[in-house]
Amino acid sequence: MPERTSRTYLLSHLLRMLARPRETVDVTEELPPVPDCYQGRITIDIDRCRGCGLCQRACPGAALLVTRLPDKGVRVSMRHDQCAICGVCELVCPADAINRCAAIAPSGADREGLQETWERQGARGGKVKVDDARGRQG
Ligand code: SF4
Ligand code: SF4
Repeated sequence: MPERTSRTYLLSHLLRMLARPRETVDVTEELPPVPDCYQGRITIDIDRCRGCGLCQRACPGAALLVTRLPDKGVRVSMRHDQCAICGVCELVCPADAINRCAAIAPSGADREGLQETWERQGARGGKVKVDDARGRQG
C-alpha cells in the first residue's frame, strides 16, 4: 500500500473510532447488569452461623476461614478470588447460613480487596460487622 494511502486509511480509521459510541461500561459510575448465567456471590448470614467450620473443611478452594470468638461469637472470612462458586459450602452448612446472591463479588487492585468478613460478637444480639477483612490471618 502506498504511504499516502496507508496514512489516509489510518486517519479515517482513527476518526471512525473516535466517533463511535462508547462500548465499555465504567463500573465506577454504574454496575453492569448481572448476566443470567451468573451463579451468585457467596454470602454468610452470620446470625445463623454456629461456627462449626464444616464449610471451611469442605471448600476445595480454601476460600473460607471460620474463627470462633469468645462468648459464642464467630467470624467468617471469605476470599472471593479463591471461590469457584461450586456451592459445596452452601450444601454442607447445617445452619442454612450460606447463600448465593446476585450481587457481583467485590473487586480491587490487589487480592486483599477481594476478601470479605462477617463477624458476630456473642451468641445472639451481638454486633454484626461486614467489611473487607484486610486483616485476615492464615
Ligand atoms: S462456593 Fe465452593 S469454592 Fe466458593 S467458598 Fe463455597 S465451597 Fe469454597
Ligand atoms: S458450615 Fe455454616 S454454620 Fe458451619 S461455620 Fe460454615 S457458615 Fe457457619
